[in-house]
Amino acid sequence: MTIKRRTFLAASSGTLFGLLGLDLGASAAYARAAVVKRGRMTSTICPYCAVGCGVILIHSDGQLHHAEGDPDHPINCGSLCAKGSAMVQVANNPRRLVKVKYRAPGAAGWEEKDWDWALGRIAENIQRTRDATFQTGDRQGRTVNRTEAIACLGGAALDNEACYAFGKLARALGVVYLEHQARVCHSSTVTSLAASFGRGAMTNHWNDVANADCVMIVGANPAENHPVAMKWVAKAREKGAQVISVDPRFTRTSAVADLYAPLRAGTDIAFVGGLIHYALERGLVEKEYLAAHTNAGFLVDPAFGLDAGLFGPIHEGTYTREHWGFQRDEQGGVKIDPSLEDPDCVFQVVKRHFARYTLPIVSRICGTPQSKLRQVAETFLSTCRPDRSGTILYAMGATQHSHGTQNVRSYAILQLLLGNIGVAGGGINALRGESNVQGSTDHGLLFDFLPGYLKCPSAEIATLADYVAASTPTSADPQSANGWSNYAKYAVSLLKAWWGSQATKANQFAYDWLPKCDGDQSHVAMFEAIDQRRVRGLVLLGQNPAVSGPDVGRVREALEKLDWLVAVDLWETETATFWKRPGATPQEIPTEVFLLPAAASMEKEGSVTNSGRWAQWRTAAVDPPGEARSDLWILDRLAQSLKRRYSAGGVFPDPIVHLTWDYAGAKGPDPHLVAREINGQFLADVELPGPGARFKAGDPVPSFALLRDDGSTASGNWLYCGSYTAAGNQMARREVSRVESDPFGLHANWAWSWPANRRVLYNRAGCDPAGRPWAEGKSVVAYDWQLGRWIGDLPDGAWPPPQKPDASKHPQGKHAFLMLPDGRACLFAPSLADGPLPEHYEPLESPVANLLSPQEANPMARQWRAGDLGSADRYPIVATTCRVGEHWLGGAMSRNLPWLVELVPDAFCEMSRELAQQKGVAHGDRVTIRSARGQITVYALVTGRLKPLEVDGRQIEQVAIVWHFGYEGLATGQSANVLTPLVGDPEAMIPEYKAFLCDLEKEQDEHSS
Ligand code: SF4
Repeated sequence: MTIKRRTFLAASSGTLFGLLGLDLGASAAYARAAVVKRGRMTSTICPYCAVGCGVILIHSDGQLHHAEGDPDHPINCGSLCAKGSAMVQVANNPRRLVKVKYRAPGAAGWEEKDWDWALGRIAENIQRTRDATFQTGDRQGRTVNRTEAIACLGGAALDNEACYAFGKLARALGVVYLEHQARVCHSSTVTSLAASFGRGAMTNHWNDVANADCVMIVGANPAENHPVAMKWVAKAREKGAQVISVDPRFTRTSAVADLYAPLRAGTDIAFVGGLIHYALERGLVEKEYLAAHTNAGFLVDPAFGLDAGLFGPIHEGTYTREHWGFQRDEQGGVKIDPSLEDPDCVFQVVKRHFARYTLPIVSRICGTPQSKLRQVAETFLSTCRPDRSGTILYAMGATQHSHGTQNVRSYAILQLLLGNIGVAGGGINALRGESNVQGSTDHGLLFDFLPGYLKCPSAEIATLADYVAASTPTSADPQSANGWSNYAKYAVSLLKAWWGSQATKANQFAYDWLPKCDGDQSHVAMFEAIDQRRVRGLVLLGQNPAVSGPDVGRVREALEKLDWLVAVDLWETETATFWKRPGATPQEIPTEVFLLPAAASMEKEGSVTNSGRWAQWRTAAVDPPGEARSDLWILDRLAQSLKRRYSAGGVFPDPIVHLTWDYAGAKGPDPHLVAREINGQFLADVELPGPGARFKAGDPVPSFALLRDDGSTASGNWLYCGSYTAAGNQMARREVSRVESDPFGLHANWAWSWPANRRVLYNRAGCDPAGRPWAEGKSVVAYDWQLGRWIGDLPDGAWPPPQKPDASKHPQGKHAFLMLPDGRACLFAPSLADGPLPEHYEPLESPVANLLSPQEANPMARQWRAGDLGSADRYPIVATTCRVGEHWLGGAMSRNLPWLVELVPDAFCEMSRELAQQKGVAHGDRVTIRSARGQITVYALVTGRLKPLEVDGRQIEQVAIVWHFGYEGLATGQSANVLTPLVGDPEAMIPEYKAFLCDLEKEQDEHSS
């Protein structure tokens, strides 16, 4: 989108500096005007983290000159952090890939190739591997139509349109090993929030943080990792909010908080359990809210309970769950005690469960002083009033654990007890780290989800009817909207989008063409399968697992066993060059490697969805360098090539030959056409009840509510239905609201937010059962009984509230949590693998015993490789990985930029002064860190920000190691993930990066050993 020069200058001289609170003076104004005179301006979205800041790019003659914060953008209002400010060096960088590179088996170097040759050879490899390994049926004779020998990984930095196209092509090929970065960063967010509330995403959005009265930041360091988001934390603080930072380290975020509480890495459930107990013991809970909007009153099976740390019997590695259900009446309805007094009701079960989490025991587990625990409790629990709201911001300090799902569940329970879900300034806000990790998750680049969180079918589900039946929850409560009861409409519309006229009612809309997934094909399982030669070919788009995976020493060795590897990237990454890594012998590595040069964000067009679910469109400012091409162009050429090959013959060709792929634009594939397909269209003339409800074939479907299961609509992702309508591309909207008309800062006409442009999820819970706000100034919606509709933000379900103002039931009224079968948020969530309630367990590697039960670690925790764990006698120090503001994730997008490299040039490990003294290490020394997986040597950063914690009478040391580094780029350093274990969460399969054991020593110089 090109900005008019005059608009920009006006904004620059007024809005921008005013909002920043800076007076840059005449010299800066002159400099800016000089830059603007030289070029055109194009707005874009920052390619780094998922805050989704707007950037103005100034360019001329195909050259990018300058990047600065977009003053009109409602999230960053002109600000950018170090990474966003440096993005001009992504475009202008001699290290960028400009040619296709090819490494022949056993070769010691690259050869340059042209696109036709490379894509032809890749298509040939894909076909050869696929056809040799394709399974139409499994051992039991069930239809599976899949190949387990090709894996696809990528990519949270791709545009939504490329994500969608990648997933669609991979599924058509029968690929079941399909994953992306979200598995290893926030998959436990999806599993926990979906089980608690119905959807697995950030509940509110960035600007809304300013509406909070208390902000608790736990397991996250946004001042470093989401810097511009801190603007909204600061805004809340300016208005009187208290900010709490809970973290093993005193971080940059802690430095600007009102209250800091340390805790031992991996003990979040104990910490939050202590807050829950404190609230329940003192009655600091919103009982009316709980009765109206949660399952607090539901009666649980009286035999349910925790015994010796277990939620009942375990059979063949899984809980039998026989007592996890609710008591039901003769009609199948859940028995409910609205008074919350019945000893079997969820509220009382929760109370008993957390009764053990007293402050003294929590302090002994976490190492947090009791006085700090009390301060945190009293500060955060002060939001237990309808006129106050508190928000929880969290990230990978919470998610990357063997109990990551239950960590986030504990936040959900706390926030529900306080009535903090669905209100302005409330919620549970997952801080996502990549510009489009939300979108790539939404579009199903995960082995177990299709676009829109439809389930990937398994072999045991033979027909579409069975698939729909198995995926559609039922509810005996007539006031439950049961949003997933529309599953058939979303699934059939997806199949129609993918296979068009070939998907007919007679052939179950081509359901058989979807590959059937069985077992675990998650990120770690993928690399285990590569190591075992079950996967022979790997396609990567913008992923660097040789730095970002757990136990990367094994990842790098596993890559040697591939027949072929395709890496699409901007740079030579550690993954693409694994065959010439330090210590490798290229001549002995038979893998054929293709390195394809990709366009960067400012060189292509498409949308990205930020952490707050805002899908924002960005346009190209300059062309990609050399022969680099957009991801969509590469996928398009590959798809065309495969379609041609399979038209001439091959194993099970139909899903490929008949895959809809009509994206041709004037200059290659047109992302608008993909975006339209994602939104969906009518395939027949349709007349629906109601005024104006007539649509012709080809019209865009305006809302997912109009999708149908008879084949008359197609939609590539029902969740994005409404994003590209007859009114145009909603994601490209740029209208900023004024505070007078939009006091909550919803910015409903800026970009587009899923679902249906809703800004605050579950917003009807901000009102009582009759639709009246619990408190003015905290609810973003209200039901107007005279108008007969909700007003304010788009309501989370247009139905009336469940009660009339006279407290009688409204026959058409529905509960607030529409995506849950019972319509109420889940304090008690029996759908999860490791229990309906969070329970404290130690990490798989821990220096102390579990003080709450004899069950040391999560009994359901996933352990991908036996013998991978170390013991505390050899490795007594607790380690966690961390990030810095100047680098980004696996490092390729920052370690190749001179400005960022100058700021942080090498890897380091932060440790306490006490540990440094004990080990004879001085600040700036090189230290060797060992875990059961391997060892690395990095610089020592000795600070007072980490302190030994007193845990059950013992001093426990913790260290934090930055993980951005590897052997490629301008700045190199050893990778922290050499040390991390192959264990993880049972529900989300996220690895436990954030709590493991190590030991360290000062590097022995070569003459002394
Ligand atoms: S990295 Fe994140 S906070 Fe920094 S400018 Fe980009 S989007 Fe904004």
